[in-house]
Amino acid sequence: MTFAIHGLAVARGIAIGRAVLIASSRVEVAHYFIKPDQIRSELTRLGEARDAVIQELQRLQQDLPKDAPPELGALLDVHLMLLQDDQLGAGVRHWIKERLYNAEWALTTQLEQVSRQFDEMEDEYLRERKADLEQVVERVLRHLKGAAVPVAPPPPRAPRQSELLLEDTQDVPLVLVAHDLSPADMLQFKKSVFAGFVTDVGGKTSHTAIVARSMDIPAVVGARSASQLVRQDDWVVIDGDAGVMIVNPSPIILADYAFKQRQGELERGRLARLRNTPAVTLDGQRIDLLANIEQPGDTEAALAVSAVGVGLFRTEFLFMGREGKLPDEEEQYHAYRRAVEGMHGMPVTIRTIDVGADKPLDDRHDDAHLNPALGLRAIRWSLSEPAMFMTQLRAILRAAAHGKVYLLIPMLAHAREIRQTLELIDKARAQLDQKGVPYGPVKLGAMIEVPAAAMTLPLFLKYFDYLSIGTNDLIQYTLAIDRADESVAHLYDQLHPAVLKMVADTIAQAKAAGKEVSVCGEMAGDPSMTRLLLGLGLRSFSMHPSQILPVKQEILRADADKLAPWAQSVLESEEPAALLQA
Ligand code: PEP
Ligand code: MG
Repeated sequence: MTFAIHGLAVARGIAIGRAVLIASSRVEVAHYFIKPDQIRSELTRLGEARDAVIQELQRLQQDLPKDAPPELGALLDVHLMLLQDDQLGAGVRHWIKERLYNAEWALTTQLEQVSRQFDEMEDEYLRERKADLEQVVERVLRHLKGAAVPVAPPPPRAPRQSELLLEDTQDVPLVLVAHDLSPADMLQFKKSVFAGFVTDVGGKTSHTAIVARSMDIPAVVGARSASQLVRQDDWVVIDGDAGVMIVNPSPIILADYAFKQRQGELERGRLARLRNTPAVTLDGQRIDLLANIEQPGDTEAALAVSAVGVGLFRTEFLFMGREGKLPDEEEQYHAYRRAVEGMHGMPVTIRTIDVGADKPLDDRHDDAHLNPALGLRAIRWSLSEPAMFMTQLRAILRAAAHGKVYLLIPMLAHAREIRQTLELIDKARAQLDQKGVPYGPVKLGAMIEVPAAAMTLPLFLKYFDYLSIGTNDLIQYTLAIDRADESVAHLYDQLHPAVLKMVADTIAQAKAAGKEVSVCGEMAGDPSMTRLLLGLGLRSFSMHPSQILPVKQEILRADADKLAPWAQSVLESEEPAALLQA
């Protein structure tokens, strides 16, 4: 049966493929594809973990005190039986052998499948065994945790002809469907060949959505119960422009989307011709289009669209999914240096770590805090971990010896934080001097992403060389809505007059002070906002490489001077959205 699931459009384009489900589990697990020659060792790893849990349970059983309630012994029996039952084992082996899932992924996928069967059972006693199964799987997952995480792209899978609805398809594209994807998972998948993805949760500027845009594949987030409704291997269409997923599309629907997909490819081809065209408005104003990156290797994508630098390197992605082993100074230095050298003399803006909120480090995931976005995040976290912060600062300063580096500090709000940060930067320089380690000069910038900062701009302009407006957080904190929460996504309004006023003030005051200013939040990469930002005087935009050409197209058609009075009328309007569409 064909049905549609609605969510939020976050990354454009159409993807058509088979669903690969990532089941959510209480234990954080890695998801990756193994290589065919790793099947045997993966099965051994799984077998060893299972045997370890069996032994653990048997020991528990032997050591049960005499006066222990009899249900406890019976429960352990059930757990042992579930572990030895081949319904679970055979299924898990299937996912490893046939799909090359790593053991953890195979286990959670099979758990999901068996759980669904339990849910459908009439017998209440049997239905309740689901919880036992979850506990047993959790134990095995804990035993598996800590193993090495190799990464390999999924091998092309031959289509089963009887099920193929598309003509001329060589390999069946795979589409990821998950409750949520951690930023670390997303980075793993960045190296894979998924054609698109859908998650149940997430807002338009959640980090899941941001990484989706950086992968440049169609994506829908906030699709509520998609991961419950879609089954492994279902054919799905993802319409990243409309924020819709169609499950089991009929041939007519499929043909319609295949047509749209081809149109999209043609449009991309047209845009690609703008690659070498300078970003200059009709009235001759040159606009800097820079790239947002997550990893040093992303500079290739930046160069491919002729970005004139990196306007935001989100360094926190180097720190994620590391099972507590954070990168040391050498590793960070090499990563930053790679990014700097990768841009061949163009500026690279390296932002210090911004963890917390929806970007937790694995070992610091702390659900106890109800408002993580208001908690120990970004510079607050760095100042609370000065040793870690100093390590990062030294690594960045050292990388600056190899090219033009802009150092950027996230989420500042207080004068005290600014002073502490500057002191630590001086201290990092002094430490390098002391050791005789070479380093280079950096321009120092602050992100304006907390309303308190946007309302005390003279303070920031006094201490910093440049400002970078983080509209994602500025909107979240101004409108008091969680950017990662799909249930308030309809209130996430980048055109709210309060937001526009802060963006406009920041641009105007920075320019009046003769300082550089740019926008590096998602607003900069949204072509529907380009004219307004130009009209407000913005001349430097930083965005995912995939957005650069569509934004450039808008710039080439714009007359920046003429846009200025119109932008003022948008600022003064009660309903800016209406003016923007006019
Ligand atoms: C922002 O808040 O706009 C920003 C660019 O930072 P991040 O999305 O990483 O929080
Ligand atoms: Mg931010």
